[in-house]
Amino acid sequence: MKAVVYHEPYSVSVDEVTDARVESPTDAVIRITTSAICGSDLHMYEGRTGAEAGIVFGHENMGIVEEVGSGVASVKKGDRVVLPFNVACGFCRNCQAGRTGFCLTVNKGFAGGAYGYVSMGPYRGGQAEYLRVPFADFNCLQLPKGTEHEDDFALLADIFPTGYHATELAEVGPGESVCVFGAGPVGLMAAYSALLRGASRVFVVDRQKDRLRLAEQIGATPIDYTRHDAAERIKELTGGEGTDKGIDAVGYQATVGEGEEQPAMVLNTLVEAVRPTGMLGVVGLYVPSDPGGPSESARHGELLFTMGRFFEKGLRMATGQANVKAYNRQLRDLIIARRATPSFVVSHRLPLDQAPLAYDRFDKRVDGWTKVLLKPDL
Ligand code: NAD
Ligand code: ZN
Repeated sequence: MKAVVYHEPYSVSVDEVTDARVESPTDAVIRITTSAICGSDLHMYEGRTGAEAGIVFGHENMGIVEEVGSGVASVKKGDRVVLPFNVACGFCRNCQAGRTGFCLTVNKGFAGGAYGYVSMGPYRGGQAEYLRVPFADFNCLQLPKGTEHEDDFALLADIFPTGYHATELAEVGPGESVCVFGAGPVGLMAAYSALLRGASRVFVVDRQKDRLRLAEQIGATPIDYTRHDAAERIKELTGGEGTDKGIDAVGYQATVGEGEEQPAMVLNTLVEAVRPTGMLGVVGLYVPSDPGGPSESARHGELLFTMGRFFEKGLRMATGQANVKAYNRQLRDLIIARRATPSFVVSHRLPLDQAPLAYDRFDKRVDGWTKVLLKPDL
């Protein structure tokens, strides 16, 4: 079968690999209809993570069940399903508590598993024609048959639940004001989720004009951090107080104006932009070990965080991978009820063969390349 294979920094190609197959009685094999490229793939693509050549990328997957193992009870051939990016067992302490992003079974030595991701287990990615899904009863979310809402449902694998998770971590409530740093797909989904949860004002900070336009289109206030001091601007627009809540949807690859990386920039700006006793939700990635990191401290996941200001303001912070299963059923039903249309972020739908081009354009943040869906059937 064909799959997107990583070779070295900035180099992926669509290669012939061994077929995905049922390896355990609890597995299913899915024929992929849509697999998205994520900002998280760029950490590996840019060579920050020490990913080894040969990894098949792709953790945002949906498709049609092709085959199931003898131990699979609730999923059958022909079902249309979306797969949370977290590979999870369903029976460990964390999974039972709904914290499927931190499954203790699937990936010994590191909490949590994912498809096609360095350090998150041996699971091959789904930017391919087929994908093996472990613990299929737990890891498949059933979707209505047919092709309706395909692009909205595809975003249930990661970015819609991850954006929602950011608002959950930040405890966004009705009527509150929220600032979201990063207008990438995840930041846009966080802003969209904050509005779904009844936030009164949402500010979205980025430098990419096309992405800021999308933020404005959904009813958020865009702020270009190359034109304003973002924290000062947010305080100005909130009567000097700052927002009630703040979200980091950028992570350690935050850049200053001209593209130079400054890993703690967003966290420190959030500390200034959020009002005293507010809450920060961090879904932007901070890797503990970054062999290609811009500085010695970044290579160990250490940051120059302004703890003094954080303490002085009595702020709180919650972090981590999204527990996709905690939200995907409810978000699916909002899509079915036509009360959510997350696919407004999708800019490109391309055949698998065009993955190398898509990675290049998305990584360079070429104007208009916001979110790419790869479709093996095209
Ligand atoms: P992306 O790279 O497309 O978007 C990041 C955006 O941040 C870009 O638009 C960039 O211009 C902007 N940015 C850079 N520096 C900034 C700064 N100083 N201030 C404001 N904006 C700045 O990535 P994405 O797909 O949107 O993902 C965002 C982050 O979320 C990544 O770190 C990704 O790994 C992470 N992520 C986490 C989870 C999770 O479960 N926690 C899931 C998916 C993605
Ligand atoms: Zn992702």
